[in-house]
Amino acid sequence: MKRVIVPFFIAHQGCPHQCVFCDQRAITGRDGELPQPAELLRTIEAWRSSSGGGAVEVAFYGGTFTALSRRQQETLLQPLQPLLASGRVSAVRLSTRPDAVDAANADFLRAAGVSLVELGVQSMDDAVLAAAGRGHTAAATIAAFATLRAAGLQVGAQLMPGLPGESIAGAIGSFRRVVALKPNLLRIYPAVVLKGTALATLYQQGSYQPLSLDTAVNLCKIMLHDAARAAVPVIRAGLQPTEDLAAGSAVLAGPCHPAFRQLAEGERWYDLLQILAVRFDSGARLVLQVPPARIADVVGQKRRNIIRLDTFSGRTVAVVTADHSLPAGAIRISDSSRSISGDILRDLTYREDF
Ligand code: SF4
Repeated sequence: MKRVIVPFFIAHQGCPHQCVFCDQRAITGRDGELPQPAELLRTIEAWRSSSGGGAVEVAFYGGTFTALSRRQQETLLQPLQPLLASGRVSAVRLSTRPDAVDAANADFLRAAGVSLVELGVQSMDDAVLAAAGRGHTAAATIAAFATLRAAGLQVGAQLMPGLPGESIAGAIGSFRRVVALKPNLLRIYPAVVLKGTALATLYQQGSYQPLSLDTAVNLCKIMLHDAARAAVPVIRAGLQPTEDLAAGSAVLAGPCHPAFRQLAEGERWYDLLQILAVRFDSGARLVLQVPPARIADVVGQKRRNIIRLDTFSGRTVAVVTADHSLPAGAIRISDSSRSISGDILRDLTYREDF
């Protein structure tokens, strides 16, 4: 059964800093008032009934939950206790900043039924964090991971490649340091310029340039691939104007695309196709067999992978078919004389030395 998450947005509540890139109201389309207990219960029941009456998860996003007063945290978590006890709510997750985590609060959250805390890590480069107005260091992230884990909580991490002062190599380095902490999940949101933010001012002054869409996609393909090889799930990649940004009109500049993740996944598969296709003679007509769920990634947006393979390798893809027997990362390529099998995690590696 599909996991249903009931999101409550507490835009900027508890935030001790205004990070240069952030406008939670633009992203969520909501103001930052804390929901009252009756509203919490009403909303959860509405989601439960519209999703078949099963258990749902509850999430508090968009602010610094653990910097709320303990009384405010209790006001949000207390109404969930009977629902957790009866199984109507299966789990609670929330987002916060690394420097707003301490052992006592982590123990309180665990006792109140929270199972996962998502940390806004953004970067592991202290100079980049300072330029973004984050007000914490990479050491705070490492400490927060340890504190949350010690309390028995799962830990997620959000990264934001492309912040001011961060190179491509720096972004990959930050990503790899976070993966080494073994997060339970990752979100990767390449920085975009939202109207009205300090980042927008820097952009308009000409002192900040966001990543281009191509660069962000190629950066994220490496991150998605390395995360998959490390068995760390990436639950979101890229801000999507349709789902993440109110009315889709808040973005001034930056790598925002409605199918950002598919673009990045498609690039991974194109890189694998290039590696495998050269094992066939130039001019070969290839049949690709892939798991059904991967067809769109293998073909690429507007068939770009098929077109590029033909143009740059001289091998033509005659047909792409679904093979239900293939595992998730597998591909079989055949021509009239032979067939080879590939696997994206086994056969594709990106350089370590970025
Ligand atoms: S990024 Fe997080 S900590 Fe910074 S202003 Fe936004 S919600 Fe608050």
